[in-house]
Amino acid sequence: GDNRPDLSAFWMPFTANRQYKDAPRLLAEASGMYYRTVDGDEVLDGTAGLWCCNLGHAREEITQAVSRQLATLDFAPTFQMGHPLPFRLAAALSEFAPPGLDRIFFTNSGSESVDTALKMALAYHRARGEGQRVRLIGREKGYHGVGFGGISVGGLVNNRRTYLTLPGADHIAHTFDPERNAFSRGLPDHGAEKADEVERLVALHGAETIAAVIVEPVAGSAGVLPPPKGYLERLRAVCDRHGILLIFDEVITGFGRLGEPFAAQALGVTPDIMTTAKGITNGALPMGAVFAHRKVHDAIVQGPPAAIEFFHGYTYSGHPVACAAALASLEIYRRDGLFTRVKSLAGLWEDRLHALRGKPNVIDIRNIGLMGAIELSPRPDAPGARGYEVLVRALKAGLLVRATGDIIALSPPLIISEDEIGKLFEILGGVLDGVA
Ligand code: PMP
Repeated sequence: GDNRPDLSAFWMPFTANRQYKDAPRLLAEASGMYYRTVDGDEVLDGTAGLWCCNLGHAREEITQAVSRQLATLDFAPTFQMGHPLPFRLAAALSEFAPPGLDRIFFTNSGSESVDTALKMALAYHRARGEGQRVRLIGREKGYHGVGFGGISVGGLVNNRRTYLTLPGADHIAHTFDPERNAFSRGLPDHGAEKADEVERLVALHGAETIAAVIVEPVAGSAGVLPPPKGYLERLRAVCDRHGILLIFDEVITGFGRLGEPFAAQALGVTPDIMTTAKGITNGALPMGAVFAHRKVHDAIVQGPPAAIEFFHGYTYSGHPVACAAALASLEIYRRDGLFTRVKSLAGLWEDRLHALRGKPNVIDIRNIGLMGAIELSPRPDAPGARGYEVLVRALKAGLLVRATGDIIALSPPLIISEDEIGKLFEILGGVLDGVA
């Protein structure tokens, strides 16, 4: 019937079944911690969709707010006329913002947030008469979406090798050697000095050419790599020393994943600009937000001199319906104390995750907040095959995980119960036992 389209009739580059050919799953419904497939199978959501549905699925408050807003004001041409919701949303977001970062610009995705943040950094230097600061520095293995900004600073080479990226973009070495931290809990002890790689680029290019460094405080797409102790502090210091802006890409870590509103608070380091998306609307509608420090905002939006350096905005920036979804989401985060809930679950989460140590092929386990990763040794003849097999078997057993190569990543909705944590790891443990 309608539920089961003819998959061969379409070619979609990112179809939901792109890599699931061994266990085709089409989702029909979602509620709370569960997806339901068109075949009626329940799947426990171990990844909050794609790191976004932090409140669980189909929240009534969000549904209501979205339908009401859609019926009231469906669109506002914000280049000509505004509407109240982005103001209300910015005020609500600023209550969660790290110190000083309460100037908020709206986008429609993580990739757009990254482009926006990078452009802000360039505009900031230009407004201050340092327009030669045009280099943007990312980190190896960093993921910042698929816009030209994001792939230029991104460190997953497959994402950028086909394209001509921004001139002057460069990368610092990654911070983390998994084999040195196998099975350790908490932040890795080694590697803070990797932040000094920025000094290498300063010596190479000259500080006066570098606009910004962008990092994920915890690398997500590369396989949940928490920063070594002291690394982010050192990165902050080296940026300050050379007048370089520090951007945190919090598209994954934002909205509670680490037990505070943002990684900036959880890890105690404040960037100059911060990108977000995903959890801002609980995944219900596309939206992103960039949090700029007042010093950045005031330089690019009000001069000096009177010029506005930051000429930027999207048709759908501050879209009324997305704002309504975000306001409803923020209200649930706040009302239900979900950020602090992560703190109380993190110990159990860590214990259950690390109990998988000793399962076949497991060579590393990493966790922070309600994020986790299990790294499997690659099959010599077929790197990535084990990860893929775990993904397929887990789906068949009723659990959604994410596999990037041989790394299994987990990031359940923050509403997960202790029982559901138990169930998740019971399924995963069984799956790992079955993968040769
Ligand atoms: N930055 C980070 C850190 C991300 O994890 C992602 C998406 N996973 C993005 C940017 C891009 O977001 P989007 O797919 O919404 O463009």
